[in-house]
Amino acid sequence: MYSRTQNENGTYNTRCLYCFMTIASAVETDRELARLEARHICPERALAELLAMEIAIESRKQAS
Ligand SMILES: [Zn+2]
Repeated sequence: MYSRTQNENGTYNTRCLYCFMTIASAVETDRELARLEARHICPERALAELLAMEIAIESRKQAS
């Protein structure tokens, strides 16, 4: 999940909504934004997914 904002000169900034890090600024095209966003490896998101996985495993254990 990313938050894109546009600058006065028409370029874009994009920020990760998980770790609130600015991934890129003054990007000129949508395609470039998508490329840079795809390249972001988010520590917060990885952690959130790991926790979700553990919760799923735990709840499965309790069910059986
Ligand atoms: Zn992030």
